[in-house]
Amino acid sequence: MKMSRYFLPILKETPADAQIVSHRLMLRAGMIRQASAGIYSWLPLGYRVLRRIEQIVHEEQIRAGHHPMLMPTLQSADLWRESGRYDDYGEEMLRITDRHGRDMLYGPTNEELITDIVRSSVHSYRDLPLTLYHVQWKFRDEIRPRFGVMRGREFLMKDGYNFDVDHQSAIHSYNRHLVSYLKTYERMGLKAIPMRAETGPIGGDHSHEFLVLADTGESGVFFDRRILDLNLGRRQVDYDDPDGCARIVDEWTSPYARTDETHDAAQFDAVPEDRRMSSRAIEVGQIFYFGTKYSEPMNATVVNAEGKQAFLHMGSHGIGVSRLAGAIIEASHDERGIVWPDSVAPFDVGIVNLRQGDGDTDAASQRIYNLAMSAGLDPLYDDRNERAGAKFATMDLIGLPWRVTVGPKGIRRGVVELTSRRTGETIELKPGDAINHIKGLPNEE
Ligand code: ATP
Ligand code: MG
Repeated sequence: MKMSRYFLPILKETPADAQIVSHRLMLRAGMIRQASAGIYSWLPLGYRVLRRIEQIVHEEQIRAGHHPMLMPTLQSADLWRESGRYDDYGEEMLRITDRHGRDMLYGPTNEELITDIVRSSVHSYRDLPLTLYHVQWKFRDEIRPRFGVMRGREFLMKDGYNFDVDHQSAIHSYNRHLVSYLKTYERMGLKAIPMRAETGPIGGDHSHEFLVLADTGESGVFFDRRILDLNLGRRQVDYDDPDGCARIVDEWTSPYARTDETHDAAQFDAVPEDRRMSSRAIEVGQIFYFGTKYSEPMNATVVNAEGKQAFLHMGSHGIGVSRLAGAIIEASHDERGIVWPDSVAPFDVGIVNLRQGDGDTDAASQRIYNLAMSAGLDPLYDDRNERAGAKFATMDLIGLPWRVTVGPKGIRRGVVELTSRRTGETIELKPGDAINHIKGLPNEE
């Protein structure tokens, strides 16, 4: 992408109404634009990040054996009356009446709709276990939308639903989700700690939230520092192995880790003092096992191995896809702007031409741009007629992992500079080798 043709409406001023750093940086970097309270347009740069986050979520869900699909945003109230939640859900639900006077709603979650789909097509234990999920916009009429995409009213969520014949099988589905979530957040460069949670209006008795530590988080958390050392890394996970998944879950859930809602001071005090930590944190996901809470009122059954009708055992599992864009920034920024982890960066490398219009720097910049694209990278080439300082400030603000700086003095000596956004470290390389270095390949020139 060439910056001269891109739509990147950078704000010079820090927006006064944005209280937290991720909100400020997303506005300043031209990632989002508020449409109305808690509702945002995703501008091209922000949309790139959102899509990359969503892609990682899909890859890890599919790897865990879960099937992507897409349900609508608008739902009929009838199903919610069946489950009893139409009245229970309260004012967070946006209720709509269509031209025929039918009650509709903008889905805040999808348990009813998915249960209806499954009960009409799945009749035997042989069709189970089954987990279906989608990544779709939700609406919750939050009383106080704030912090930009962190607490929106319309927001993008991955929500998945498992259907199992009995408790034991459903616990494996729960564990599979917990492990796949660990993997998902780790790939985004985040340390998201699973913590015992209350179940809230979704219901049930078995739940974990995933929390990213950040001063601006809305949850208070207490945990054993040991949990910060855990890492899945390159460990191969066999999602069809219940014992293997249960072992990983044990490993991650045995150190003390609770939110203020489930905190137990006596248990926390049993953790050695030098390992006791408390902090603020952002909830980026939650998983629930709730058994037959929806299948009973909605009469969703299968024939089990004994030939008897049995209510489906269910759980639901959510990831805050749009909130993650903000959470990643909260976890990874400095005073100059965003510092994207490679896996979710909107572009892989920025190319800064310090003297646009100079034949030599133009040619070298264009060459690096072409090399980046043929190496399968996504480059953003700042080919505008701007001062060097302004170009650097923009690149720092939008936080691409690498910057290649092409200037007339360097080109005379046959070199360009490659700078890491995270470490600030700069090295000189021959122009043809800048991209090799980013790809971890040996120099060629
Ligand atoms: P919260 O406690 O933050 O209101 P929740 O517990 O009501 O969230 P869940 O039903 O667990 O939300 O939804 C799954 C995920 O969706 C959450 O972990 C969070 O990451 C995300 N999410 C929930 N509400 C919002 C919102 N208003 N804006 C952005 N993301 C949200
Ligand atoms: Mg939650």
